[in-house]
Amino acid sequence: MKRIYFDNNATTPLAPEAFEAMRPYMLEDYGNASSIHWYGQRAKAGVEKAREQVARLMNARTSEIVFTSGGTESDNTAILGIVEASRAEKKHVVTTSIEHPAVLSTAKLLERRGVSVTYVRVGSAGVVDPGDVANALRPETILISVMHANNELGTIQPLEEIGRLASERDIYFHTDAVQSTGKIPVDVEKLRVDLLALSAHKLNGPKGVGALYVRKGTILKPLLHGGHHERDRRPGTENVAGIVGLGAAAEIACAHLNEEHGRLAALRDRLESGILSQVPFVSINGDRTYRVPGTTNLTFDYIEGEGFVIAMDLRGIACSTGSACSSGSVEPSHVLSAIGLKPEQARASIRFSLGRFNTDEDVDAALRIMPAVVEQLRVVSPHYRSPVMSAK
Ligand SMILES: *Cc1c(COP(=O)(O)O)cnc(C)c1O
Repeated sequence: MKRIYFDNNATTPLAPEAFEAMRPYMLEDYGNASSIHWYGQRAKAGVEKAREQVARLMNARTSEIVFTSGGTESDNTAILGIVEASRAEKKHVVTTSIEHPAVLSTAKLLERRGVSVTYVRVGSAGVVDPGDVANALRPETILISVMHANNELGTIQPLEEIGRLASERDIYFHTDAVQSTGKIPVDVEKLRVDLLALSAHKLNGPKGVGALYVRKGTILKPLLHGGHHERDRRPGTENVAGIVGLGAAAEIACAHLNEEHGRLAALRDRLESGILSQVPFVSINGDRTYRVPGTTNLTFDYIEGEGFVIAMDLRGIACSTGSACSSGSVEPSHVLSAIGLKPEQARASIRFSLGRFNTDEDVDAALRIMPAVVEQLRVVSPHYRSPVMSAK
């Protein structure tokens, strides 16, 4: 059976170019990047080339890039690092109700430590209103954290406007850009962010490595304690091969950004219009304009999302109910709840996330089997009356 992968927001396949770039650093160039001998210099050169590649992807300076173990660590470092470094007596942080758990759980931790946090709500489109962010600000606000693209819906948040608010008021601005880097233009100057998190495995790089952009002059307390790596921002021997893989993946993404954007958007439109024309009682979640190209989230009324994912998987197609991090939990997705879906609608929602290796043929193959899968699941639903049956 040919298998098709439509879960690129959970993770992406490693780009062969990234793998080839990593290979020598796993075999012959195995030095510690802090060592002064030849081996160390080779490793250091690999890390510094990657730093340039990652900096270029977001229009940053190389000195502003810190390598981490991934998106989660970058988000934690940014948020905890700013709050811990602040000497203010009263501290307040503004974030949104649709953040990834890497941000939301960190915000909850802050609350347990006595920091007040405002979770700005989103409308039914899954987009934050900058006016609501402005209204949430207080004299003691020290940090705003708003994600760039949402992992479940793909919706893009108005960071430029929020960045302007933050810079006018001297408030640090962090963004979780894990789902946007490599998919849409990300420019730290245009967005006016002070901190930006990305993850290699979401852009066809290896797992377990990421980066945090830290604007020059930002005072940040490190999360981990140890040596003087990464300009004292992140101790620990560098994951050299992983960092090199991230750099290579960033360079490829940067080089193909425009053409890949167009290709993925067309692929997603083909999938969406195919589903809408062949399967009744389906609706698309989230704003259809302000979103990254490869993501679509749809509610298939009268189904259980888990059942759909399993039935599709049996036929070789991998998709998901919302995010990988919350699957397995009985709670409906916090993102779908935030945009106003009822629990049964949230549980009937499916995310397809397309990526670099998906083709028109993949989409057509999924469309060939989907109507029957959906109908099979629906006929066992007590609330469903098939349009075919009721027409008789
Ligand atoms: C995947 C993801 C993360 C976590 O990144 P890891 O590298 O897996 O730790 C954070 N934020 C968003 C939006 C994500 O999609």
